[in-house]
Amino acid sequence: MRSIWSDSEAAAFAGDLGKRVYTSRLLGADPELVLHGGGNTSVKTRETDFFGETVDVLHVKGSGWDLATIENAGFAPVRMKPLLRMAEIPHLSDADMVRQQRAAMLDPEAPNPSIEAILHAIIPFRFVDHTHANAIIALTNHAQGGERVRAVFGGEVLIVPYVMPGFILARTVWELIRGRDLTAEGIRGIVLMNHGIFTFADDARASYENMIELVSRAEAALGGWGATLAGAGAATADLLGLAELRGQVSRLRGAAMIARLDSSEAAAGYASLPHIADLAARGPATPDHSIRTKRIPAVLGADRTASLQAYAAEYAAYFQRHAKGQTMLDTAPRVVIWPGQGVVSFGRSVTEADAVADIAKATWETVQRAETTGGWRALSERDIFEVEYWDLEQAKLRQGGAAKVHQGKVALVTGSAAGIGFACAEALASQGAKVIGMDLSPEIVEGMASLGGEGLVVNLTQDEAVIAAVEGAVRRFGGIDILVSNAGIFTAGQYLDQLEQSNWDKSMAVNLTSHQKLLKYTIPYLKHGIDPAIVLVGSRNVQAPGAGAASYSCAKAALTQLCRVAALELAPAGVRCNIIHPDAVFDTKLWTPENLARSAERYGMTVEEYKARNLLRTEIKSRDVGAMVAAMASPLFGKTTGAQIPVDGGNDRVI
Ligand code: ZN
Repeated sequence: MRSIWSDSEAAAFAGDLGKRVYTSRLLGADPELVLHGGGNTSVKTRETDFFGETVDVLHVKGSGWDLATIENAGFAPVRMKPLLRMAEIPHLSDADMVRQQRAAMLDPEAPNPSIEAILHAIIPFRFVDHTHANAIIALTNHAQGGERVRAVFGGEVLIVPYVMPGFILARTVWELIRGRDLTAEGIRGIVLMNHGIFTFADDARASYENMIELVSRAEAALGGWGATLAGAGAATADLLGLAELRGQVSRLRGAAMIARLDSSEAAAGYASLPHIADLAARGPATPDHSIRTKRIPAVLGADRTASLQAYAAEYAAYFQRHAKGQTMLDTAPRVVIWPGQGVVSFGRSVTEADAVADIAKATWETVQRAETTGGWRALSERDIFEVEYWDLEQAKLRQGGAAKVHQGKVALVTGSAAGIGFACAEALASQGAKVIGMDLSPEIVEGMASLGGEGLVVNLTQDEAVIAAVEGAVRRFGGIDILVSNAGIFTAGQYLDQLEQSNWDKSMAVNLTSHQKLLKYTIPYLKHGIDPAIVLVGSRNVQAPGAGAASYSCAKAALTQLCRVAALELAPAGVRCNIIHPDAVFDTKLWTPENLARSAERYGMTVEEYKARNLLRTEIKSRDVGAMVAAMASPLFGKTTGAQIPVDGGNDRVI
């Protein structure tokens, strides 16, 4: 580890707060130091308040900000005086501490100050840096952790035995440093056992470089810290197994989750270690990781279902052993070690699953390295529990608000570059689903990216292309819950005696056979999906055909029959299959203003009359169809299968 300070980069950041932003980002850029919201930093300044009075202010990292991307606005400005006074109170509840910290802010709109704000305030230096550096964690999570720290740093650091973060920690440090001259004593940092490290200085660069130097010394003392971890060639990914695992874990959680499989050599090597069950069960690197990853991962045995059940039972027992009036969280693991395959991380969104994956990786790398450099002993179960169920940490999780109806689900939508397909993808994405769109048109890539989804250029009539797309979705997100099979073409009107064979064949290939292929390749995964649903996009033509549209109408009629058969076959597995019959959706690329005007004229109507040519006299838009499709894939239609739903404003030929 070395300093990445650059004078020219630093020059772009003005003032003390600017320099604070710069070195915070330097810390945040190194995953060996800081991960996902971990760590916090501060700077002390003197400012003039609203009334023209001079006040001492602590700018401390605000809750919800990440050091890697922090800006000036990410630091909460808190008056120093109340922070220092709080340190003098022997007992203070966390709730009171948070309240008083907030009340002491110069700007009521600023984010909540870090729960370590008091600790930052009492350290008598302008710049204070705090990380959960892996090497410090490895050094201290050991039976003789304190002695190891003393051997490495001598008198240059203060050592604080593990206590809960927040007020108790601030108070412990206050007792330790009050009345002392840290500079005269040559003290450059504070090592918090099983937690992390603080460094400080009156200069931004010096405080940052103290961090780099002390952590580097810990790495050097551990010997071979940076060595490459032993890997193993991962087996061929068991995608069906992954989808089944995702389904099981989601059901334990009571909500759909995205599953990210890390099957890299290092991950597969770790998962296949002979003593993996022992190693994985020792606990997290630092207690606050338990909020995202739980205390320990699940390790799968030969019977995967039994392994997950055992994990859930053990989690409930762990809760019972330590709970003091709290409500138990769900019993599903967030990380699953899968021997032979790798490490699977779970989250309610891709972002959350990725954060869990990063923490899981840092943990298993640190634990493995610590094992080979002296041994690993995590904090006690009780200490972890107290942080996992700490009200201040649980409050962070609750910030998200109510979940969206399709949150955590994976949806495939075909023909979604534009029109009805795009509207379906948009509706599902806005309700929380991760959408994978497929289309022949290259516009699919940008269109789906605009929804936070993924667009794939796929020719749905080709088996290999469909298989690759379906398997890719499972490999990246863990499974499939929703299939909207929408791709279609309108073949030009030709009466039967004039019908070109290619017209018929093409309609059958795209409007019927491609759907049958897609069903064939997605059904095995849908069977493991969460509240799985298939929605096929049919047409009003099925019940009210028009002359000259044989190839289109017959393909859509057969598609309707395919839906009914699928509903019969898939009901035992809980997969619903319904079909929607839209009509006269004019806001698609098929309809230009010119041909709309031409059609209206043919009926002796204005364009407006023509667009609402149905019983309800209402215009039908793509987004109306998209909203209905999203509803049909939701629990609202949870007791409906094999149904045909018209979205046509009412048609007297159908009714
Ligand atoms: Zn910390």
